[in-house]
Amino acid sequence: SSEDQNKRRKPNILISGTPGTGKTTTSVALAEATQLRHINVGELAKEKNLHDGWDDQFDSYVINEDLVCDELEDAMEEGGNIVDYHGSDFFPERWFDRVVVLQTDNSVLFDRLSKRGYPETKIKNNIECEIFQVLLEEAKENYPEDIVVALRSDSIEDMSRNVATLTEWLRNWQPVS
Ligand code: ADP
Ligand code: MN
Repeated sequence: SSEDQNKRRKPNILISGTPGTGKTTTSVALAEATQLRHINVGELAKEKNLHDGWDDQFDSYVINEDLVCDELEDAMEEGGNIVDYHGSDFFPERWFDRVVVLQTDNSVLFDRLSKRGYPETKIKNNIECEIFQVLLEEAKENYPEDIVVALRSDSIEDMSRNVATLTEWLRNWQPVS
């Protein structure tokens, strides 16, 4: 609704997905193409100490949800942000105009996580997270169906197409008048 959109002049996009699906790489490329601001939530939480320790499963800090939301509120109200984080369940629903869930083929994801030097159990947990579409389900539970989009991220071609698709979507986005 117009109230939810908060009269921002530029949209906010959330890029979520299992570790290794390409959130950060895609966000950086999209920020370059659109001049939107890339916010890597894990990095932000680390820099500003908005966390309660390390989450090994998701390879990021266990962020302190209240502190992170307080920190982001002004930027999100202003609009024009690409938020890079695996999960989506604690951000206010009104913040986002698009929620992207990146998805990667199991064997491709396995290779990427191996290259990161993840131990076997951690790779297995993340592959399971991907197989059961945990983060897609989470996004669907927390945002309107029509703003959630699952995008394949197996190859460089996929990534280029995803950046092009999202750039086109952004070009057509209209602020609430
Ligand atoms: P995430 O932020 O989701 O954990 P990254 O963006 O760090 O994932 O990507 C993990 C690794 O996979 C990086 O080495 C990156 O270059 C590679 N990668 C990510 N997406 C793709 C893609 N669509 N095609 C090929 N390689 C990719
Ligand atoms: Mn990342």
